[in-house]
Amino acid sequence: MSETSEDRKKILREEIARVCHICYSRGFVAGAGGNVSARLPESDLILITATGVSLRDAGPEDIVAIGLDGSLREGQKKPSKEVPFHTEIYRRRPDIHAVLHLHPPFATTFAVLRRPLPMVTITAEVILKEVPLVPRAPSGTRELGELVGRYVEEHPSAKAFLLADHGIVAMGPDLTGALNIADLVEDTAKVAWLTQIFKSQG
Ligand SMILES: [Zn+2]
Repeated sequence: MSETSEDRKKILREEIARVCHICYSRGFVAGAGGNVSARLPESDLILITATGVSLRDAGPEDIVAIGLDGSLREGQKKPSKEVPFHTEIYRRRPDIHAVLHLHPPFATTFAVLRRPLPMVTITAEVILKEVPLVPRAPSGTRELGELVGRYVEEHPSAKAFLLADHGIVAMGPDLTGALNIADLVEDTAKVAWLTQIFKSQG
C-alpha cells in the first residue's frame, strides 16, 4: 500500500469519527446505535464503524476497513452488524461515497408508523425528492441488506430511506453530503409533525 493511500485512509478515519460525534450530539442516535461508513476514493475499500461502539465516543481506532463483499480487510475490531446494507448500496451506486445509518426520533416515528416521509417543504421536494419506506427486516441481516439494495435500485433519485420500525439511511457523494441529507430528513420530519399538530387543532 502506498503512503498516499495510507494518508488518505487516516484522514478519512478522522473525518468519519468527526461525523459520528456530530450525529450523536444532534440526537440522531442514542447509546451504541447507528453506524457510519465511507468509500476510500478510487478503491473498493470501505471504512466503517466497529460494532458496539457509541458514535459519541468513536475514534479512528474504532473504524475498520472492509471489502465490497463485506469481508474484513484491516482492523482488530468487528465491523458494524449493518455491513450488508452498506455494501449493497456501494455496490449498486458508484456515485455514493458515504452512508449513514441513524435513528433520529422524528424521522423514525414515520418509520414506526410505516409512512413514507412527506415532502412538506420546497427544500425537501427539491433536494430529497422522495424518502421511500423500506419494509421491516431484522437488524444486521442479509435480508435487510437485500431489501435496501432492491429499494436503492428501484428509487435511483432517492438520497435517503426510512427503515420500518428502525431508523434511516442517508447517502451522499461524501460524508458532508450524507450528513446534510440526514439533517434535512430529520428537519423535514419535524416540520411534517408540527404541521400535522397545527392542522389537527384547526
Ligand atoms: Zn439501527
